[in-house]
Amino acid sequence: MSIFNTPELRAFRAEVRQFLDAELDDELRQATRAGLHIPRALVARWQAALHGRGWGAPHWPVATGGPGWNALQRYVFEEELAFADAPPGDVLGLFLAGPMLIAEGNAEQKTRYLPGVLSGENFWCQGFSEPNAGSDLASLKTHARLDGDDWVISGQKTWLTGGHEADLMFLLARTEFEAKPQAGLSMFIIDMKSPGLTVNPIITIDEGHSVNALFLDEVRVPRENLVGTRGAGWGYAKDLLARERVNNAQAPRTKRDLVALEKLAGRLQGSDGELLASRPVIQRRLASLTVDYVALESAVLGVIAEQMAGKEPGPAASTLKIRGSELQQRVTETAMTLLGEAGIVLHPEYHGGPLATEAEGWIDRHLFRRVVTIYAGSNEIQKTIIAKSLLDM
Ligand SMILES: Cc1cc2nc3c(=O)[nH]c(=O)nc-3n(C[C@H](O)[C@H](O)[C@H](O)COP(=O)(O)OP(=O)(O)OC[C@H]3O[C@@H](n4cnc5c(N)ncnc54)[C@H](O)[C@@H]3O)c2cc1C
Repeated sequence: MSIFNTPELRAFRAEVRQFLDAELDDELRQATRAGLHIPRALVARWQAALHGRGWGAPHWPVATGGPGWNALQRYVFEEELAFADAPPGDVLGLFLAGPMLIAEGNAEQKTRYLPGVLSGENFWCQGFSEPNAGSDLASLKTHARLDGDDWVISGQKTWLTGGHEADLMFLLARTEFEAKPQAGLSMFIIDMKSPGLTVNPIITIDEGHSVNALFLDEVRVPRENLVGTRGAGWGYAKDLLARERVNNAQAPRTKRDLVALEKLAGRLQGSDGELLASRPVIQRRLASLTVDYVALESAVLGVIAEQMAGKEPGPAASTLKIRGSELQQRVTETAMTLLGEAGIVLHPEYHGGPLATEAEGWIDRHLFRRVVTIYAGSNEIQKTIIAKSLLDM
């Protein structure tokens, strides 16, 4: 029997579906289907609706506004959201800044910053990577020095997801210069309206704008915006990235894409008029993706079982990140193969064409998902983590 097939989880799933039917309107569903750069106003509206129901941050502790669900309920919730085409929310606030502040922030920081994440009023961005410090993050050069009651921060960050729309940023900067690289980093909260900050857009291969370059020129940050202990930022960043990796397995959303892919194969015909879904070569490809999805889901559920027993995911997060990201790319690659030339049209004017409904959103996802094997620590780096910590190499 499936672990999801209990009376409690069936009732829970029905409750979530009822909520989605009532609250998730066509504009939100359409924006989610159309691509990955969903406007902030829509994401905020959806977050406010979830918050209104008490479901704003399913994975946060009850004391900080979480609904008190167990990991299986959270998984079911994610699955229902994915299949209903609900926007993913402000991932940076909900999955990274929020949990980091819950773990390391002081009482004042929690009171000040967590409610805005829950309600969707405040969006966050992550200032870690620099032009010469991506995989080798500990070599970052952005630096902070104390001047009276302020930290003064200068440097350059890159690839900031949502940096142009965010209100707040959590940023890693060097505060110690004598220590070994990892020991000299500290975590700061920065108001994105601070004087001295310049945000420049980076347009990605899908012609979308969600990432940015950031320049910090003597930006003054109140002393109390240091998170946790001075010089301990590397540890906070490592924990935060491990949480991001589990999230980046994206199993429920990949399942939704896989089902959409099967439907696509069932609708499209080859030049001979034969349905693509009836061709053995397509059937084999879809079967291989399904088998790999089932393996991913069972690994994710294994981690969920451990989380329910109070354990942190550890290096298993790296295996999930590799498997999840590779599968996401293979799914969209297959969609592009099925769609052929209809799939390569990126621009909205195409949306009235003969295969408009079938093609919608696939090319955007296919192009932007080049990133999933790169961000949250590239897959090559994850393999090194696995080799060291799981295989003892
Ligand atoms: C769309 C997008 C959004 C992003 N969003 C954010 C964000 O919001 N905030 C943020 O801080 N960062 C963000 N990033 C940055 C991301 O985390 C980095 O791109 C990533 O860490 C890789 O760093 P890099 O780009 O400098 O590549 P590099 O580190 O230069 O790596 C280049 C290649 O070399 C490989 N490589 C590097 N070192 C090793 C090694 N030791 N062993 C084997 N192979 C290696 C890598 O795997 C990669 O294939 C984003 C990136 C992208 C593309």
